[in-house]
Amino acid sequence: MRERLSDRATTARAQRELAHRVRTRRTVARRDGVHCEVDGKRLLDFCSNDYLGLSQHPRVLAALRDAESAGGIASHLVCGHHAQHAALEAELADWLQAPRALLFGSGYMANLAVLQTLLGKGDVCVQDRLNHASLIDGARLSGCILKRYRHADADAAAAQLAAHAEGAALLASDGVFSMDGDISPLRALAAAACRHAATLYIDDAHGAGVLGEAGRGSVDAAGLPGDGVPLRLVTFGKALGSAGAAVVGDADLIEHLAQAARPGIYTTALPPALAAATRASVRLVRSAEGDRLREQLRGNIARFRAGAARLGLPLMPSDTAIQPLQIGADADALAMSRALEDSGHWVAAIRPPTVPEGSARLRIALSAAHLPAHIDALLDALGRARDAQA
Ligand SMILES: *Cc1c(COP(=O)(O)O)cnc(C)c1O
Repeated sequence: MRERLSDRATTARAQRELAHRVRTRRTVARRDGVHCEVDGKRLLDFCSNDYLGLSQHPRVLAALRDAESAGGIASHLVCGHHAQHAALEAELADWLQAPRALLFGSGYMANLAVLQTLLGKGDVCVQDRLNHASLIDGARLSGCILKRYRHADADAAAAQLAAHAEGAALLASDGVFSMDGDISPLRALAAAACRHAATLYIDDAHGAGVLGEAGRGSVDAAGLPGDGVPLRLVTFGKALGSAGAAVVGDADLIEHLAQAARPGIYTTALPPALAAATRASVRLVRSAEGDRLREQLRGNIARFRAGAARLGLPLMPSDTAIQPLQIGADADALAMSRALEDSGHWVAAIRPPTVPEGSARLRIALSAAHLPAHIDALLDALGRARDAQA
């Protein structure tokens, strides 16, 4: 007899409950800088990717308000390509020292677009084992051979490229790993890609705005020139505080994406209002104020790591705004997260399948908008939650 989809969903729900893997959406009633109101409680937020606090910056909000159109109206290739989009693409290319930029509705869609459009059957995509899910999904959608190498191991990447000498090859890695906070070995990856005639694609969702000169991201921080990496992803929903994404890089590859990428063609253009807000963010990121915000963020990261080390907390090796504490069991990570919430701190427990089995963790995301007193209060709460659990 045919299985009913609703029965399948019920079974999956029961399994999730047993495994402590039910996810809940919390409703944020109000957000005010690093504070937010959830279920009637005011919490200090250590979950968001708003690393520079730009999502509520007066100039970004003003740009959003002043825009003439809320909706994207149509796809870019019909009549949706607005002057705000064209200006944003030009400013992104200028900022990131790349020949060209192309907008997408989100980072997820951009990754599907790049991999699905550039690769096909018989090609190989070599990826870091901890890459973002959208990179994995894009490779699957393309029908190419997908190979995943040991995390941050450029030699393993090179070996996989060498073992698949037929067909075109793309080497793809997160610049900053979203659940670990560490930075990929970009120079070694660039050398491996060059040696094996592969195209290097770096997803810099968590590096853009935060790392490198003028916030140009992990590629710049690694000392690679803008054209040292033929394709890069910048997303606007993290340090830039808005929404959307762009692929920047080699003009011929980008033009091919503009002509052929289904997730770019068969969708409505980003709202021009968001493009305008993102332009304001990019201007801020490149300015002296951006330098000051990055300096504050670095200070917060150093303060947090020094305090966590004093407390003997199990820090993972990260110098970025993403500071995970390794916990292990799903239930323990959840219990820690609940204890932190009881003391007024919102810290996400990240569980499989987002991270590998047995590596549930607290993912603490720091922002330039946190004050030193906020960091100290979190450290104090972490120490007490750990002691209560022991
Ligand atoms: C968030 C994220 C994405 C997806 O970007 P969205 O704009 O949120 O869809 C892609 N890659 C990485 C590494 C991310 O962290």
